[in-house]
Amino acid sequence: MYLRPTTLEEAVHALAESRGTILSGGTDFFPALGDRAVTAPVIDISAVAELKGIHSTGDTITMGGRTTWHEILDAPLPRGFDGLKAAAREVGSVQIQHVATIAGNLCNASPAADGIPALMALDAEVTLASVSGMRRIPLANFVLGNRRTKRRPDEILSAVTVPRRLENSASAFLKLGSRRYLVISIAMVAANLVIDERGKIAEALLAVGACSASALRLRELEQSLRGVPAQPGIGRKVKQQHLAELSPIDDIRATAVYRKEAAQVLVERALESCVERAS
Ligand SMILES: Cc1cc2nc3c(=O)[nH]c(=O)nc-3n(C[C@H](O)[C@H](O)[C@H](O)COP(=O)(O)OP(=O)(O)OC[C@H]3O[C@@H](n4cnc5c(N)ncnc54)[C@H](O)[C@@H]3O)c2cc1C
Repeated sequence: MYLRPTTLEEAVHALAESRGTILSGGTDFFPALGDRAVTAPVIDISAVAELKGIHSTGDTITMGGRTTWHEILDAPLPRGFDGLKAAAREVGSVQIQHVATIAGNLCNASPAADGIPALMALDAEVTLASVSGMRRIPLANFVLGNRRTKRRPDEILSAVTVPRRLENSASAFLKLGSRRYLVISIAMVAANLVIDERGKIAEALLAVGACSASALRLRELEQSLRGVPAQPGIGRKVKQQHLAELSPIDDIRATAVYRKEAAQVLVERALESCVERAS
């Protein structure tokens, strides 16, 4: 069965009734099939216009779940979104960025998904829609592990919301891979720093991806940076203990030891980059 609803209302009903699988840009969906044919019902949400677009309300900026990485790159977003734009530029290739969506990246929940740390460093929340209504949960709680999320099978990720208190934060995203383009991350780091009028860090948000089953915020380091002057040399504040929660794996791309060292260097560089951007 193949269904292509045109409204979110139709889409959640189609999903609830068919117990099918959601198809959006298809850039994770089809590769995951390998040689297998599609057997489960497919709910193709690519015609649901209300899942598109980026808009600001009083204290939030909301991106529809079907917003593509290209649309994020193309949008006139405030500087706090520079890290998210840098992540968007890293998702596959230009062709992939034109069809691949933010919700697909978050729901596929690969440990190497570029969008997850970038949106975690923006304190993003996800909205999940179903026939029983909407619920909103922090992205940091939504992703549970490698390809595991809190999404129920009857839910569509309809939107991603970022608080506007971060819109003027200094923001950076750094990805390390074994080559420059079309590469799966060895490690990646996203950082957003809110700097007060005295030049001190009022709020730090730091997330590391590809170094544990799901991206992690470095809460202890974030706390320790509060009140610290946002000056060059800030990277020296990063200690190994701040990355203790990471649990990287050995795989074909890198060893666990290398990943952890690389993550520390990327955190240091991301902080320096934020300070430079803020000055
Ligand atoms: C060649 C290639 C290179 C890539 N490189 C990168 C890379 O460098 N970095 C990176 O992070 N990713 C990369 N990807 C993965 C992929 O492009 C992204 O994860 C993309 O954002 C997925 O979005 P999509 O719309 O294509 O999702 P789909 O493939 O349509 O869906 C992915 C999963 O999410 C579910 N889903 C989709 N939308 C929703 C929704 N609104 N609500 C609930 N569930 C939903 C689907 O059921 C499916 O399980 C690459 C993929 C390819 C093919």
